[in-house]
Amino acid sequence: MLPFPFKHLAKPLRICCQATGSLRAQHSKAAAVSAKETPGWTGQESLSESDPEMWELVQQEKDRQCRGLELIASENFCSRAALEALGSCLNNKYSEGYPGKRYYGGAEVVDRIELLCERRALEAFDLDPERWGVNVQPYSGSPANFAAYTALLQPHERLMGLDLPDGGHLTHGYMSDVKRISATSIFFESMPYKLNPKTGLIDYDQLEITARLFRPRIIIAGTSAYARLIDYARIKKVCEEVKAYMLADMAHISGLVAAKVIPSPFDYADLVTSTTHKTLRGARSGLIFYRKGTRSVDKKTNKETPYNLEEKINFAVFPSLQGGPHNHAIAAVAVALKQASSPMFREYCQQVLKNAKAMAEALLQRGYTLVSGGTDNHLVLVDLRPKGIDGARAERVLELVSITANKNTCPGDKSALTPGGLRLGAPALTSRQFREADFQKVVEFMDEGIQIGLDVKKKTSKLQDFKSFLLSDPETKQKLSDLRQRVETFARAFPMPGFDER
Ligand SMILES: *Cc1c(COP(=O)(O)O)cnc(C)c1O
Repeated sequence: MLPFPFKHLAKPLRICCQATGSLRAQHSKAAAVSAKETPGWTGQESLSESDPEMWELVQQEKDRQCRGLELIASENFCSRAALEALGSCLNNKYSEGYPGKRYYGGAEVVDRIELLCERRALEAFDLDPERWGVNVQPYSGSPANFAAYTALLQPHERLMGLDLPDGGHLTHGYMSDVKRISATSIFFESMPYKLNPKTGLIDYDQLEITARLFRPRIIIAGTSAYARLIDYARIKKVCEEVKAYMLADMAHISGLVAAKVIPSPFDYADLVTSTTHKTLRGARSGLIFYRKGTRSVDKKTNKETPYNLEEKINFAVFPSLQGGPHNHAIAAVAVALKQASSPMFREYCQQVLKNAKAMAEALLQRGYTLVSGGTDNHLVLVDLRPKGIDGARAERVLELVSITANKNTCPGDKSALTPGGLRLGAPALTSRQFREADFQKVVEFMDEGIQIGLDVKKKTSKLQDFKSFLLSDPETKQKLSDLRQRVETFARAFPMPGFDER
């Protein structure tokens, strides 16, 4: 139910601003004349009328999404309801500042939208508003992380995160031997922690030893290509010892956390950042949750030290780093958060876990090696090196048969351009109602594609040769086209969230 002043809007508003000749004539004769004589540009032309070239590209992308098997672990299919909010008039509103404290007039509605989004974000993760607050304005996951660092660190202060090649994220401080890559490493000093190469699990002991030496102000707990659960309690213990903030970046897993199908970082972290478009299934945006209330009590003096994160986080997002909030995205995230609090979403996330497990099982049965040996979450990381192929070649051959996945480094990899691994996620296809048996079929298709890749690898040398051979050898082309047709017929049969046409 809409609250009182908006009740009359429950039906679509069709007469908000009718620019008819007669109405306009009351204001201006000239305007009425021009309205009658030249239809002009009202801005109400559809995309297909106004820009057929772009409409055609959108159609092509829609078709690609429908006929393909989407296994990129960070992707998902946003609901139609959230996309309706995203493609709405909310795009038009400037509202720098925060609800009740804006630098622009006319913000009364977007104030309510932002507050609703905040309330739903706290509810979706079962958070007490006395103990947690949330900023819903970050434009995406990377800006959310940079805002959190900006709030907590002076330039060149230190932080630690899981190294990118080990499954961390760029924004956790990635730098190469010769270059500082992420702005996190340009403006702050970052030290990575790593996986144990034997087990494929986070090496918490090494993290502890390094943290004692490096004394970071923040330790980040979060991953982009890690198939196991994070031991938040263990990382929190290290944070307490070295007096660091614990920042959990749950970008990949926030849907699973909301659905309570995996452990929550909120029990331990001081701050939690997230994207909203991965397992959470919303529009592309970012969130920063921060603790409120007492941070610590001195054992001798009983003096309480409060968290003072709210002001710092809000100031870092606006005005330090961003301008006007994306109100259309905030509204679409609010819609997704409502959905994420429903029993249907919990079922969805349970199915994501079952499907990832089914995929892992099917791969193991076909002789594939998995980093860490299996999965506890929404993704699997396949180590293709024992099969005699790499992630780059596998990614390309699968792309040609309409299976989308991405290459990924495995522990011990030398090259990031031809890494040994392939990252496969279940969230997107689970949003298309795939179940365990469907994922077994997906693995069968994938295995067929990789076999084609293996044959071609034997006949070629460099990656570039491999790629051109795929497009030129008649026999290979025939095999790829045959497999692609079977993949696409299979994929098209499943429903697709969002609009039918776009
Ligand atoms: C995806 C991701 C991000 C960044 O999100 P963008 O919206 O792509 O900027 C940050 N952290 C982690 C762990 C991620 O997986």
